Amino acid sequence: MTDDATPSTAPAWHVLGTGSMACLWAASLAASGHEVSLIARDRSRHAAYHGITLESAAGGEHFEPALETRESATPIAQLLVCTKAYDALDALAGIAHRLAPEAAVVLLQNGMGFHDEALSLVGGARLFCALSTEGAWCPAPFHVRHAGRGVTLLGRYPRGPREDAQALARALPTRRLEVRPVDDIEHEMWRKLAVNCTINALTAVYGCPNGALLEPGDPGRDFAAVCFETAAVLDALGQHIIAAELPAAATEVARRTAANRSSMLQDVQARRRTEIDYINGFLCRRAEAADFPCHFNRVLCRRIRALEQGYLSR
Ligand code: NAP
Repeated sequence: MTDDATPSTAPAWHVLGTGSMACLWAASLAASGHEVSLIARDRSRHAAYHGITLESAAGGEHFEPALETRESATPIAQLLVCTKAYDALDALAGIAHRLAPEAAVVLLQNGMGFHDEALSLVGGARLFCALSTEGAWCPAPFHVRHAGRGVTLLGRYPRGPREDAQALARALPTRRLEVRPVDDIEHEMWRKLAVNCTINALTAVYGCPNGALLEPGDPGRDFAAVCFETAAVLDALGQHIIAAELPAAATEVARRTAANRSSMLQDVQARRRTEIDYINGFLCRRAEAADFPCHFNRVLCRRIRALEQGYLSR
């Protein structure tokens, strides 16, 4: 049973990765009648694969997208890259030779700093970026919980006509996952990065929920300092509007998500590698190239890397 009447001639989707977002999107694409295949890192996960279980407010559902590895020879017409930021380029490089000349490639990662390299990897294919506030996690392999409904912004990278994103959005499971085409996805990426720089690493360092950043005490004092510095760096980098809006925008996100644990705090608590190099790390690299000080963000990067080293090196 599927949600939409997707024409059987519609190009198939390939979803790169087998984690939370990959399973959420692959199951939702399958539910919408699309032909969809997951691309796993290697063959070791094939044995355990019997389809995807998707749990949501509507209950549990089971879907059976195909599962392949990068060695498969099938050409790829539509690709959704659902790895972490630090794996995206390697994963894309491994299957770039399979992209059809007019393929659409969508990068769905938090963070910045790898998109221009991705552009050169995809050759003649069209590159898009997606920024998602959907919440999903996997209690077991190929079993995904859709924990929070959100919105996914989709735009051509580098900036291109909104019609391109609108056309691609129609090929996504929009009845299940809200997709909003935008003109300038890079602007949205900077906006999200700015807020993430002020909340994610700080909550991971203090081991606190987002709302603690608004209370009196050390996290609140550091939050004010990191907001001030991040806004100054963004201003120096020419992102004037985002810089001006940042203190209010970050405060509003911390207030609205007061009880939540940021994704970086969740990564640290689960002893996983974080995406720090593509969030505060990216901002520091840009600041350094512009010869602008970025002391507080640099300290946050060091603190997170020290935490990671404590558990990843064991
Ligand atoms: P995840 O659960 O850790 O999944 C990442 C997947 O990428 C893993 O299955 C990993 O495989 C796979 N992968 C890595 N290298 C690969 C390769 N070369 N070939 C094939 N697969 C490869 O991460 P996630 O939660 O889905 O997050 C993906 C991105 O979405 C992140 O940037 C995250 O910040 C963003 N995001 C997530 C959420 C959410 O709620 N989960 C919400 C918004 C945005 P292995 O298991 O073999 O390593």
